[in-house]
Amino acid sequence: MTTTGTARVEAVIDLDAVRHNVGVLGAAAPGAQVMAVVKADGYGHGAVPVARAALGAGATWLGVCTIEEALELRAAGITAPLLSWLHLPDDDFASAVAADVDLSVSSREHLAAVLAGARAAGRPARLHLKIDTGLSRNGAPAAEWADLVDDAAKAVADGGCEVVAVWSHLAHADAPHHPTLDRQAVRLTAAWQAARDRGLSPLRHLANSAATLTRPDLHFDIVRPGIAVYGLDPLDRPVGESPLRPVMTLRARVALVKQVPAGEGVSYGHEFTTPEETTLALLPAGYADGVPRRLNRNGRMQVLLGGRSLPVVGRVCMDQVVVDCGPGSDVRTGDTAVLFGPGDGGGPTAQDWADELDTIHYEIATGVHGSRVTRTVVGRS
Ligand SMILES: *Cc1c(COP(=O)(O)O)cnc(C)c1O
Repeated sequence: MTTTGTARVEAVIDLDAVRHNVGVLGAAAPGAQVMAVVKADGYGHGAVPVARAALGAGATWLGVCTIEEALELRAAGITAPLLSWLHLPDDDFASAVAADVDLSVSSREHLAAVLAGARAAGRPARLHLKIDTGLSRNGAPAAEWADLVDDAAKAVADGGCEVVAVWSHLAHADAPHHPTLDRQAVRLTAAWQAARDRGLSPLRHLANSAATLTRPDLHFDIVRPGIAVYGLDPLDRPVGESPLRPVMTLRARVALVKQVPAGEGVSYGHEFTTPEETTLALLPAGYADGVPRRLNRNGRMQVLLGGRSLPVVGRVCMDQVVVDCGPGSDVRTGDTAVLFGPGDGGGPTAQDWADELDTIHYEIATGVHGSRVTRTVVGRS
């Protein structure tokens, strides 16, 4: 990670946009705390700077997938409440407890392992008990809930843990009126009530980005937005209709410009042939940097270069792509092309790539990585 102005391939991370988005999410959920989800290195944006900006804009919690991700935030000096939620029973729970990381638990086996870690750390673990309300992924099945709560309540009585929350995750949050949302909420509340009946007083949380923006009745005590923090609209509203601002701009500098005659094949396999004499610009970004090779059908991918939207032609290679700038172009070596960004001025967006590839923008953003992509952080942290 360097911050020179001469990066070949650069992911520019706009922390002012993070702050704006967290403000939008907080305003959408006035009765709840905001847990900004910064797993997978902040969805490919950089967990530490995004976490700091999110906390600065009113988030009070952070959420990650793994203990390693949690410890990275602690090592950076971030002290906010922090939940880690996907573990193996032999993970390093002692380090997590010692670093004041809240841990999600979905089974008695995991609970026993976390309690052993807490004993080793010499302090109580902070638990979020996860109930599977219908996603059938992580979380305890309903049939095991009473036993899990019972074990946890005994451990609370012994001073081995605190039960901070009961929580779950939605299957159809991007379809706000899908009937499973209500069913999942009812099941979560039943599981939460069972914990209360056992003498615990946990918080409750369920909503991801989409539910934060569309289902106020599911906000409970904490909302857990991820993708919306990064300005990618969970409801796929186009730029201009979304209240969110995309945080990442992926750009690359032109390495070479050349004139080629009509009839020349371009890039591996010659999937594109120049129809006329034209100017080609070479960008040093390819699939090793997060430009999906499946974008290689001609014209599927446009870049913003010299104020114009221009097509990438021929195959996406590991390290590079070729842009057809048209006859008589004044594009020069060293110019900067936007591969995707906020979409202002008609520029390409991560959503455009996702649409072309029949995937979701989550996969596009998290795919930008690798030792060659310089991450440049701008805005107030
Ligand atoms: C990733 C994740 C989130 C955030 O989801 P978004 O759709 O990105 O808002 C929330 N909760 C859990 C458990 C997650 O894994």
